[in-house]
Amino acid sequence: MKKAVCKSYFLAPFLLWNLFLSPLPHAHAQQPVVVLDPGHGGIDGGTSAGPILEKEIVLSVANRIEKQLKRDHIQVAMTRRSDTDASSLYPSDTPSRHRRDLMNRVRYFHEQQPNFVVSIHVNHSGSATATGGHVFYQHSHPFGVLFAPILQQCLDAQYHTRRNPLTGPYYILRAAKVPVFLLEIGYLSNTSDRNRLIDPKWQEQFAKSLAKTIELGLALQA
Ligand SMILES: [Zn+2]
Repeated sequence: MKKAVCKSYFLAPFLLWNLFLSPLPHAHAQQPVVVLDPGHGGIDGGTSAGPILEKEIVLSVANRIEKQLKRDHIQVAMTRRSDTDASSLYPSDTPSRHRRDLMNRVRYFHEQQPNFVVSIHVNHSGSATATGGHVFYQHSHPFGVLFAPILQQCLDAQYHTRRNPLTGPYYILRAAKVPVFLLEIGYLSNTSDRNRLIDPKWQEQFAKSLAKTIELGLALQA
């Protein structure tokens, strides 16, 4: 844990220099592109606490991140901007809606050819004391290994935690051939986390912080 934090501190001056003193970074010949993937939608509410639904929180946060990134002239693609899942995004014979939803999200990632994808989710635990954020990444991607601890720090700053990013058995991490980071941005099952997650002021400041971290990620790829 300590090692990851130190590594990021070491990188910080380099990243800031790149971000503020250089032209916008280019991982590809074109303008950088970030895909934001608010989880769930439509019939799939995600996790819930009473009337509070994951799908609504993650869409609100993603919309705010998009606004911030666009303000900074970053090109953003989103798997959804309204209350719908991705199961009908492309025609498919796959009978399972859930499976179609995930497969279509990955297909969308590939079509956009992004620098990376940030998928946003909210967590739930049987333990009411479970709190804070987690970053899941693909250990097979060198950029994943490099950037995941920096994204984790962004979440840790919100919750005063110090965690290492994790690898996890998520379909979109396994299937995608572009770097994907899946963020669980807090626990709906925890009262304190839940009060933050539904607070528009918290969402706004968190979105700004995450947008700046995403811009650091783009600088890192330059
Ligand atoms: Zn989710």
